[in-house]
Amino acid sequence: MKKNIDDFFTNEIRTVAIAGHVNPDGDCVGSVTALFLYIQKHFPDISVKLYLEQPKEDLMFLVKPIRAIFEKPAAQKVDLFVTCDVSSFDRIGLAGELFEEAGRTLCIDHHVSNTGFAEETVLVPDVSSCAEVLFYMMEEGKIDLGIAEALYTGMIHDSGVFQYKNTRPETLEAAAALLRKGIDFSSIIDNSFNTRTYVQNRVMGHVLEGCRMYGDGLIVAGSITYEEMDQFGATKKDLDMIVAQLRLTKGVEAAVFVYQTDENEFKVSLRSNNVLNVANVAGKFGGGGHVRAAGCTIEGDVDYAERVIVAAIMAELGVS
Ligand code: 5GP
Ligand code: MN
Repeated sequence: MKKNIDDFFTNEIRTVAIAGHVNPDGDCVGSVTALFLYIQKHFPDISVKLYLEQPKEDLMFLVKPIRAIFEKPAAQKVDLFVTCDVSSFDRIGLAGELFEEAGRTLCIDHHVSNTGFAEETVLVPDVSSCAEVLFYMMEEGKIDLGIAEALYTGMIHDSGVFQYKNTRPETLEAAAALLRKGIDFSSIIDNSFNTRTYVQNRVMGHVLEGCRMYGDGLIVAGSITYEEMDQFGATKKDLDMIVAQLRLTKGVEAAVFVYQTDENEFKVSLRSNNVLNVANVAGKFGGGGHVRAAGCTIEGDVDYAERVIVAAIMAELGVS
């Protein structure tokens, strides 16, 4: 697949905008930061800006020093707009208009459900993370310490520190190359991945305490409403590790986590262990993602959201 990222920064490209997806996770933040730092270092004549929804505190160490822009950009045409880890146009979020105005558009991604919304797409669906895709696009000699830290952060977040099935031998070889750059990998893992705040621990405990089993123990589902989040002082940024914990429930094939995002709207996070293609399940509700990790949005109340998603999984698994 080797496509050199440098080939996209031709002479006529003077301005570049980079954007990630809504509700940015570690892979998204790591990828956009790595690309920003790479352009800044190796293409100093290009004016580059990074637009991103403000990530959770644990990921701010990446974007704070490079002054990422957390607001909707003023209309201004850029020569090239690059998205990282974005699977469809509606997931660009606040920089969507800038994308539509851009001279050229490039999408770098690893989602099997990618819709091909950009003019050019570098999509490698079986790779752990967008950061790993970017690693292959960069010349190793051009990756400095800061770029390596950002790429490594992206890789560990989407692979669960190299535990999920999307980890391949090549993923570990890429990680080894980043370790050789001298990154403080144990601090990155602890500070951006393992650490939980008091609020995050308590809210996870609440969801786990109330979770339900379906389909003869093949499916576990947990949920949370705004009212419950308020009780713990939690926001959606405090919820992202809950579905990973649910997936570890002994005997389950699928884990479902439903959380409120608007008055009558719920976001669903899906994970599977061995056979269920959750990207297909999410796709039935207008969402998408990966074979083992996907998501979608459902209108209605919390019970309805859980019921329809569990029914869809049961149908897919052929259980009742
Ligand atoms: P998470 O459950 O961590 O929010 O998302 C898991 C994966 O599914 C991520 O790769 C994410 O990009 C994708 N995903 C989550 N929600 C949606 C959605 O509403 N639409 C699409 N296309 N992908 C989603
Ligand atoms: Mn990703």
